[in-house]
Amino acid sequence: MMEEDLKLISPGEVRVRIAPSPTGHLHIGTARTALFNYLFAKKHEGSFILRIEDTDVERSKKEWEQKIIEGLKWLGIEWSEGPDIGGDYGPYRQSERREIYSKYIQKLLKEDKAYYCFCSKEELESQKQYQMSIGEPPRYSGKCQNLSPQKVKEYLKAKKPFIIRFKTPSKKIVFQDMIREKIEFDTALFGDLCIAKSLTDPLYNLACVIDDFEMKITHVIRGEDHIPNTPKQILFQEALGFPQPKFAHLPLILGPDRSKLSKRHGAISITEYRKDGYLAEALTNFIALLSWNPGTEREVFSMPSLIKEFSIEKIQKSGAIFNITKLDWMNGFYIRQKSPEKLTEYCIPYLVEKNLIEPELEAEGLPGQFYKIIETGEKISLKRLEKIISLYQERLKKLSEIPELTHFFFKGKLEYDKELLRWKDIEDKEIKNILKKVKKILSKIKSENWTEKNLTNILMAEADKIGDRGKILWPLRVSLTGEKASAGPFEVATILGKEKTLERLNQSYDIL
Ligand code: GLU
Repeated sequence: MMEEDLKLISPGEVRVRIAPSPTGHLHIGTARTALFNYLFAKKHEGSFILRIEDTDVERSKKEWEQKIIEGLKWLGIEWSEGPDIGGDYGPYRQSERREIYSKYIQKLLKEDKAYYCFCSKEELESQKQYQMSIGEPPRYSGKCQNLSPQKVKEYLKAKKPFIIRFKTPSKKIVFQDMIREKIEFDTALFGDLCIAKSLTDPLYNLACVIDDFEMKITHVIRGEDHIPNTPKQILFQEALGFPQPKFAHLPLILGPDRSKLSKRHGAISITEYRKDGYLAEALTNFIALLSWNPGTEREVFSMPSLIKEFSIEKIQKSGAIFNITKLDWMNGFYIRQKSPEKLTEYCIPYLVEKNLIEPELEAEGLPGQFYKIIETGEKISLKRLEKIISLYQERLKKLSEIPELTHFFFKGKLEYDKELLRWKDIEDKEIKNILKKVKKILSKIKSENWTEKNLTNILMAEADKIGDRGKILWPLRVSLTGEKASAGPFEVATILGKEKTLERLNQSYDIL
């Protein structure tokens, strides 16, 4: 049915939206809904709109709205209408649309499709308890539907608290979901639904329907958790004489154990992924594959290729499995595609944050070309930082791993256990002799000949002479890094330079 439906839409007619509630962080689920709406809009040369659903005044916060906007923008998802940029169908914040809602709420009241309900909370609660005790689904009895207009006037005059209820017609609602196909609901189960807390405060389902109509939304693409809302929204659309948009409900995102996705599975907010050193391209690519299956083996998609390949028919019905290992792999892949300059630019904030380096503001030359190693006060050039970071480009999975991997480059004296210097079970004396020899050889190399190639040639020849290469390479590498595992000794020595290499060899000699 999908293909045919789309034929009826001419380019530019598609209007879709992401409608987050600013009550918390931007999570993977909302990011995916936003991405799919965006891709769908782009694919059909339509419009993608951001609407902030902040009718819940107590829980909605401007800071969350800001964070959500930042997160979406960082992912590369852009809207053409929204609270930050305006548009022809604004305002785009529900809290600023009360007058619009009021018009429709009054219309429903006037046409006798809705009514004032003055029942107290206690009354409703005991009714609910009773219904549940006799095994019936809790729903409103319809009591206030029978109030005379006189009584209503009297209560309103007396300022008796009220809500607005919708007169739910008993019928079968059937709709064709673009992903789930036919979905049916019996509205008799709903009872008369509360639709507004006052003449200007609609609840989510009504506000959403009014906004979707006023904003000319053609397709509602959202999470499967909203399926129970859809028949209610359809009832309101029918009552208000609105056309019905097409619905597409995206499957849930689950952890690898098929339970509800949580932190335990590595699912954190978009802000946290960013902080953790995931690249926006990697995250977008990963999110796109959560339930959308391109139908080939291909896994790597840039935003333009997603726009080209995306289609709703290729969204699966069953839950999407969130696999953090795959995200890490993908992030590593995108990290490897970066130029050394770019990767260094991305990594520097992590080194600064861990107090390893800071920008050298006094340095001559172009700003940003020099940094200061905080522990030693030495100056380090951007070029050298680039070399250090490039050593790890192949194995880096997240940018936040960089301080841990490279910290020994930014230390004065290294702290490590003497045992770390031991290759197999050779004696302290032999290690000392080897280190002495290495130092002697290295001190003879002129600074201008201090290249990785020369160091490798000279020291490998020596290592081969000894027979067991590890006898030289292991203590040398540990002396320079203080680490059990690191980049190789020649690469490290080249970057450290002659002076620092010899200094570290002396230190290891002292440790023994
Ligand atoms: N404010 C709703 C949410 O955040 C949006 C629902 C919809 O897309 O209709 O889940």
